[in-house]
Amino acid sequence: MNQRGLVELRRELERRLVELLGKPVHVVQLTIFALPCGCVGASLEVRNIVREDVEVFKDHLRDLLREVVEWTLGKKPDLYYARLTPSGYDVVSLTGRVACDECGKDFKGAADVLPL
Ligand SMILES: [Zn+2]
Repeated sequence: MNQRGLVELRRELERRLVELLGKPVHVVQLTIFALPCGCVGASLEVRNIVREDVEVFKDHLRDLLREVVEWTLGKKPDLYYARLTPSGYDVVSLTGRVACDECGKDFKGAADVLPL
């Protein structure tokens, strides 16, 4: 995916989240990542999304993350999660991750991670 494609994808994701949640939501960064263990994925750094939003719209958010990872990496994610602020109230990011063999087996996540 080229520069324009990624920029447009970020804009489209923001538009869909605003529509889904019915309030001003910002995707301040769309990140495609690779970890030392072999996991890859896509992450949306977000503003103005709270824990309750992701609990209510879990299925929709999984669908959205699956599409992002399929579009950018050509694979379906194995893991979906939201990362929370230490207060556990605000959502910092939403992630779809294609797990490596190790993480696929025993992914538990840290205390600030809410599985979707
Ligand atoms: Zn891994």
